[in-house]
Amino acid sequence: MNRILVLPMGIQQLTRAWFGWLLICVSTTANAAWVLSDDTLHTLVTSPCCEFLATDDAELSAQQIMALPESAWQKLSTSRINAGFSSRIYWLRVSIDNRAVQNRQWLLALDNPLIDWINIYLQSGDEPWLQVAALAEGDHGRKVSHPSYLIPLELAGDAQRPVLLIQFQTAGAANLSLTLWDRDSFVESDHRSSLGWGLAFGALLLMGTYNVLLAASTRMLSYLMYAAYIFSGSLLVAGLLGINSYYLWPNSPWLQHISLPLLGGFTLLFASLFTERVLQTERRQIGIKRLHRGLQAGIVLYLFSVLLLDYQSAVIVLAGLVVLVVISLLALGIWLCVQKAPLARYYTFAWLALLVGALISSLAYFGWVQLPIDNLTPFLIGAGIDVAVMAVTLALRVGDSYRSHQLAEKNAMEQARRVRLVQDKALQMQATANAELEQKVRERTFELEVALRELADSNRELEEQNTRDALTGVRNRKYFDKRYIAEQRRSRREQTPLALIMADIDHFKQINDTYGHPVGDICIREVASRAAEVVKRPGDVVARYGGEEFALILPNTSPEGARQLAERLCSAIRDQGVVTGAGELPLTISCGVACLYIDPQLPPETLLAQADKALYQAKQQGRDRVCVFITEEQQVE
Ligand code: GH3
Ligand code: MG
Ligand code: MG
Repeated sequence: MNRILVLPMGIQQLTRAWFGWLLICVSTTANAAWVLSDDTLHTLVTSPCCEFLATDDAELSAQQIMALPESAWQKLSTSRINAGFSSRIYWLRVSIDNRAVQNRQWLLALDNPLIDWINIYLQSGDEPWLQVAALAEGDHGRKVSHPSYLIPLELAGDAQRPVLLIQFQTAGAANLSLTLWDRDSFVESDHRSSLGWGLAFGALLLMGTYNVLLAASTRMLSYLMYAAYIFSGSLLVAGLLGINSYYLWPNSPWLQHISLPLLGGFTLLFASLFTERVLQTERRQIGIKRLHRGLQAGIVLYLFSVLLLDYQSAVIVLAGLVVLVVISLLALGIWLCVQKAPLARYYTFAWLALLVGALISSLAYFGWVQLPIDNLTPFLIGAGIDVAVMAVTLALRVGDSYRSHQLAEKNAMEQARRVRLVQDKALQMQATANAELEQKVRERTFELEVALRELADSNRELEEQNTRDALTGVRNRKYFDKRYIAEQRRSRREQTPLALIMADIDHFKQINDTYGHPVGDICIREVASRAAEVVKRPGDVVARYGGEEFALILPNTSPEGARQLAERLCSAIRDQGVVTGAGELPLTISCGVACLYIDPQLPPETLLAQADKALYQAKQQGRDRVCVFITEEQQVE
């Protein structure tokens, strides 16, 4: 590799320190002339040997330039011409001391593909100036088809002292490095670097595409932001290397000019958006969120302004933005590291790698350090580390969110399980309570039913007792009255005879007077008991009518039947004396019998009155007998 870098340093170059690697270099030889020999064929010549001048007159020819006094020329003290943004016309002059014996083919490489137009002149000995190349506006007229400007040169021998004049002007940075290659060396080196670039861009393309697919399948914006960051960054680097203008838009210098500031802006924008998502800074502090929003707003504003600004101004603004964004994001990364934010270490490391790489490359381009490798390599290594570590960071972030999502899901499921358990328990308790309640209700209902039944029984008993005579236990007067009316109705309804017996103990007063009331009571009780035994039909009623008088209601009973029953009653009393405390007392009763088919025309007391009359008759006739009431018509018969 025969290469010398010749650079002047301007203050404005500082703003492009970040871009040092992209403002393309040129190798030149220094000293009074480039010395070419068979020995130096593969040797890097390091001493500056170029002279340059700047002019505003575009009409000056090579002869006129060479006619200018020597004082117009300035020597380049470093290995690069870097005049910053300037629309002036620059002339470079190089004398070549060709001591090589072998006749070799030479290639002059101009590595800045962004130069707008270039004219190259060559003079050997006293021969007239020969224009060997005229490249303009997207490089029509290239002699060698290559992304870099390559000009084949035929150099005359040492005696001729060939002189090279390079005239160029650009809207971008007047930054140029010339390399004079031996053709074979160039081919060898170019193959290697093509392979390297191919691999690098292939890897980036793959990574970007992979992240786009991930974004599509996971619907996570961070993947998309990362892919956009990779794509815009890769396109930017490719643009700076002249790959875009050579392959994508070879006939459009306008696109070439506008694409670089735009791609730079987009790279910064996606870097900020990606940072925000991967570090989840929006959730941390309102200040950080504002910082991102501010940066993004500034970048978007810049992207719109690119359409209005000229190339030079756009690149200057972009350089400022790059400094601002990179420092902000790096500072944010460091601050988050201090805060022990997750993943901040990886992120900061990635940015630092990119920054350190870019710095080393910049220093090498400015000639401040000499590297044993290509000047761009440190930046590429940094960018590679950046892309790889960012990918790892993103993967870890996604892993984190996946884990926290899983944890949240697990917690939710656990919560749901607990809720279900509590619900089940509550349902179980409710069921138990219901069962207990139902059991209690059943018990209470049963108890209530029993109580009601008992109450009904008691009521019945009470009712029954109410109908009984306290002394004798037979039906009382009240019951008699009710049944007397009821049986009259039945008799009338069914047209059946109703018989009534009125019985009265004979000479009872004497018993009372002789033996006392308690003995009298015993006698009354005994008469009642025997009367109850005499009646057989369930419908017959024996009632104490009052004092020592009894009334027997005999439904559906003929006068004869009633008379016989009254006779039996009399016998039952007469036949056996009543055992009392005063000994066995003989007792008789008199009975009056009446029987009627009840007629609604008759007053209800009729039957009773008739029986009473018959009783009276029995008393009259001598007692201890039965008298049947006979109507006047019957008596007549
Ligand atoms: P007769 O043969 O005419 O019926 O004569 P008698 O003495 O039985 O006369 P009466 O029927 O008029 O007398 C009823 C008497 O029965 C009056 C009263 O002293 C007595 N007596 C009425 N009720 C009771 C009672 O509940 N217990 C007792 N020991 N005596 C009663
Ligand atoms: Mg009486
Ligand atoms: Mg009596």
